Formats: sequence, structure tokens, C-alpha cells
Amino acid sequence: MSAATTRSRTPDRLCAEAVDFARAAAVEAAGEAAVGEHLGVDADGERVVTHYFATCERAYRGWRWAVTVTRASRSKQVTLDETVLVPGADALVAPQWVPWSERLRPGDMGPGDLLPTDEDDLRLEPGWSGADEPAPNSALVTAAEALVADVSVAESGPVADAAGELAAPTARGAIAAVAEELGLGRARVLSRLGLHLSADRWEKDYGRQTPMAQAAPASCASCGFLVPIAGTLSQTFGICANEFGPADGHVVALDYGCGGHSEAAVVPAAQPPAEPVLDEFTVEPMPLHPDPDSGSVTETDPAEELGHS
Ligand code: SF4
Repeated sequence: MSAATTRSRTPDRLCAEAVDFARAAAVEAAGEAAVGEHLGVDADGERVVTHYFATCERAYRGWRWAVTVTRASRSKQVTLDETVLVPGADALVAPQWVPWSERLRPGDMGPGDLLPTDEDDLRLEPGWSGADEPAPNSALVTAAEALVADVSVAESGPVADAAGELAAPTARGAIAAVAEELGLGRARVLSRLGLHLSADRWEKDYGRQTPMAQAAPASCASCGFLVPIAGTLSQTFGICANEFGPADGHVVALDYGCGGHSEAAVVPAAQPPAEPVLDEFTVEPMPLHPDPDSGSVTETDPAEELGHS
């Protein structure tokens, strides 16, 4: 340890004794009522000492007035360096500031909010926009297509070469159309990192490790409610379209699953009721005239009832 460092740990005697001088500086800054008892001194350096005073401000519980004093070499005159309010060990302080981009959580965005994306956001990479290519239906492309049709029989030669040069925009136009269809006609597309982050997120909520999937009778891969997606993630994910399932409208891993699996419990189709049987050959006796005395009914001879003697 150097000699200078050793000296700085021992407060300069004259500076350490200047308690009243330091208190006067704190009182001048905060007022008499705000400055409390002397709490101690710290040696900040050679002939540089900081005096601490309690603060009586109720809003600054645990804070201290720090008055730094110093003196020149071979001088007995102590002078003021600075007066500040600093938090003590048990001070009530505001939480550390966090940038909004780190504070933002999924679901925080509301209608009309804008969420800027960094130019160098690692989740994105440049896409093929085709902005510098001629449009597929431009005059240049139309002329090239006509010329190619005229010389289609020619296998080689200067005319065919010229047609080939003009046909290049046609090919580029076709590529633009395909790129548009594939969703690549954008300034930026998801990078590999962006794809991985998304996959991890989706897997966490609708993946194989979830309790729902663990208890499922079968996986989404064999479910009729799964809507396949295109692109790189199609090997791992799809979209659930079961209105009554827990993941309706969500991206689900193919090894996720739920009790709503289309083949888990197929309800047998309802059987149509049997046709009523009409017996036209058997005659059943029916009581038609109730006996008023007995309160019972009189059974009528079916033959008599039908008018036979
Ligand atoms: S209903 Fe269940 S098993 Fe079928 S796709 Fe949706 S989450 Fe997967």
C-alpha cells in the first residue's frame, strides 16, 4: 500500500476538528431546522475530510448532510469544499432507473401506442424488398416478354442474346411476385435469433412441457383442429383452431396437446328413432260408455260396437 493511501485513511486533525464550521455550511444550505446531530467524519484524501450530519427533513429519512472541508498544505485555515445531501445505508431511495425498453412487458401496449424498433434490433435482419427492381407489369417487362415470345424458337444468336438481356427484368419481376407471396417483400424480416426467441416463447406456453400437454391424450400433430403454418417454423408449430380448446387462435408446438384433440373422444353419431309400428290386424276392446252407478266403465263387445249381430 502506498504512503499516500495510508495518509488518506487518517482524517486530517484540523479538518476533523472543524465540526462547527462544517455545521454552519450545512445550516446555510438547508436551514437550522434541517440539520441534526454530527454523525462522524470520513477522510477523503490528504487534508480533505467529510463531516456528516443527520437530516431532520421527514421526507429524507436516512439521508445525511455531507460537508467536505479541506485546507492547503502548511495552512491552518480550513475551507469549505462542498455541501450535499447523500443517502445513508438505510435511506429511503428511489429504485434504480430502468430504460423503458427494458421495463416494457408483453401486454403493456395499448391502442394507438407506438413501439419503436431499434435499427440494429438483433431479432430482425434485412429482407428482400425488391424496391430497386422493375414492377412485373412495367413497360420494360412487357416489351421483354413480347420479344422473348417472338424469338422463342431461336436457340442461340445475337437476337436471342438481346432477348435474354431484356428478359432478365421479367425474371426479376417474377421473383418479386414470389417474394411478395412468401412475405419477403419487406424491409426487414425475422432473423435467426428472432425466430429462436419466438419459438422459445411459444414453446413455454404451448409446448410439450406444459401440464396440459403432459395430460393430453394425443399431440397437436395428429389433431384435426391444427392449422399448418408456412416457413421455417412449420416443422415445429401450427395454429390451434379448436374454439373450445385452451389454445384457440394460438401458435402451438406440434408436440403440445389437450383434451380437445379431434380424435381423443369421438362421440358416436346419434341413432335415428325407429319407425312407429302400426298393427292393423289386432282388435283391441275399448271402454266407450262409463257405468254411472259403479263409477266404472262398461266394456263393450267389439262385434256389437262394429254393428255385427
Ligand atoms: S385442440 Fe388441442 S390437440 Fe388439437 S390442435 Fe388445439 S391444442 Fe392441439
